[in-house]
This record gives sequence, C-alpha cells and structure tokens, in this order.
Amino acid sequence: MRRTGYVYDERYLRHDPGSWHPERPDRLKAIQKNLAESGLLELVTLIKPYEAPLAWVEKLHDPDYIQRFKRACAQGLQIFEVADCGICPESYDIALLAAGGVMAAVDAVMNGQVDNVFCAVRPPGHHAERDRAMGFCFFNNVALGALYALENYGLERVAIVDWDVHHGNGTQHLFESDPRVFYLSLHEDPQHCYPGTGYRRETGKGKGEGFTLNLPFPPRSVDEEYLEALRNEALPRLRQFAPQLVFISAGFDAHENDPLAHEKLSRQAFRDMGQLVLDLARESAEGRLITVLEGGYNLEVLEDCTEDHLRLLLDVPFDHF
Ligand SMILES: [Zn+2]
Repeated sequence: MRRTGYVYDERYLRHDPGSWHPERPDRLKAIQKNLAESGLLELVTLIKPYEAPLAWVEKLHDPDYIQRFKRACAQGLQIFEVADCGICPESYDIALLAAGGVMAAVDAVMNGQVDNVFCAVRPPGHHAERDRAMGFCFFNNVALGALYALENYGLERVAIVDWDVHHGNGTQHLFESDPRVFYLSLHEDPQHCYPGTGYRRETGKGKGEGFTLNLPFPPRSVDEEYLEALRNEALPRLRQFAPQLVFISAGFDAHENDPLAHEKLSRQAFRDMGQLVLDLARESAEGRLITVLEGGYNLEVLEDCTEDHLRLLLDVPFDHF
C-alpha cells in the first residue's frame, strides 16, 4: 500500500453559495460519508489545511481583487461580481483554506510524509483568474499549489492534468507564459460548453509556448475518445516534459450522469485516467501526485469516482472490502 494523504476540513462546508447553487456543501458531505463507510478513511493520513498566506495568494492574484472579495463577504453580499459566484460571509476565509489545503498537500508530499494526496476542498479553483472570480471559483487552488511547489521547494517542472469537463481557463492563463508548468486540459468543446476557452490553438505564450495542451472533445464523447487522446497524444508530451510533481484538477463532471455538461464518460474512464496519470507520476516524479477536487455535481458520481480514485492512490484493490 502507498501512503496517501487526505485534505479535508469541516470548515469547507461553511462556504454557502446559495441554496440554489450546484456547488453545494453536500458534495463534500457525500464524499466524506462514503469514504468513511468504505473503510478507506482509516487508511489515509489526514492532512489539516491552513489558510493560504496572503503573500502567496498575491503572487497569483491581484491584491485589489483579493480585497474586493474580502469586502464583499464582510458586507454580507450574496453574489461576488458574477452571477454564478455565490458567497456568504465566510466564503473568503474558506476559499483561503481551500488554497491552503493544496499548499499543505504540497508540504506533505515534498517532506516525504506521504506519497500522494487527495484534496477534498471547496470552493473549487480552476476557473479563477488573476483578478476575476468565475464559474464558482475564487482563488485558483491548484495553481497556487503548483507555484508553491516550484518556489518554496525548488522544483523546476510541474504538470497539471485537468480533466474537469470545463476548461480550466484560470489555470491556463496564470501559467501560459511559464515553461515550468505544463498545463494539459481535457474538456468539452468550448463552442458548446462553459467557459468558452480551451481551443487547440491555445498552446502557451512566449517562453511558455508549447507547455499548454488543450484537448477539446465534442459533446457526447465516450471513454475511448478521452483515453485514446490521453494515451496517444498527451502522455508522450508529458513524459518528454518529465514533471517532478504532478497535479490533477479532478472534476467528475464529464461523467454521463452529471447535470451540468454533455459528455458520456463512465465511472471506469476516471479509474483509467487516474491510473495513467499515476503511472506518469511514478515514472518521473517518484510517485508524487496531488489530486485536487474541482467540479462534479451528481453526488452518487462523486462518491463512486472519489472512492475509486483513493483506491488507486492507496493501491488498494477495487475488489477489496
Ligand atoms: Zn467543471
């Protein structure tokens, strides 16, 4: 068995974007309950998150934006600047705790406490831009984790594999000029799906040219289309890049039962993609893999897919209890 960390904190339930909102506290409650019932929670190392220090958050996000967000929460506003970004008074603190959860995961992996980590955090992060909240996201959790690994632990190459059904516009834009971060995204075609970015022609800028790879798929794509593209096109590029640490921006909303998108992936596709990315991490990164929860809005799908993913990380067979 491998040593697997699990970032979770009950305070993540306190971010309340409104009772109508699909990115709801029940998502984490369902994950946590299922992991407890399956016995997997006893096998992982609980990692306590901390609030991301402002000095780090300001390396990626505009200080004025951070203050606007803080103020909106303190004033008791229910929406922060864009209609889909619902907030409550605690959202600012909890968003810092989500970003800091990924930083704590980086600490645990880089200090050798664990081999890999699953971060059950919310609010999600991959749509958050330098100075703009978008798509239920406020601070870019995975991007902050990647930057922290590079600059606090002296790594030179980090890969982010984003299989959320929506393109991670924020993550791409934050690193598109940075050759230290290879950003791969598999997502539904931007012509049909939020946020409308992630075309193949977006391949990075300046020194970062060639370190962004977008693989858009038509609506109703199935397992084999995703897996073939990952195996045959993306992984050879990633192997050549030879990341020293691998992140997954794991949304589970490309599943056929997800209510927000139109792809047709099965539960098995997420297992297979997880195995392929884990293999990459073992080849060049000594197995260091940090998975960060992004989207996924069907509770049953979230339970099944996160359980499978933890079994992969732990190396506990799928037919074992
Ligand atoms: Zn999504």
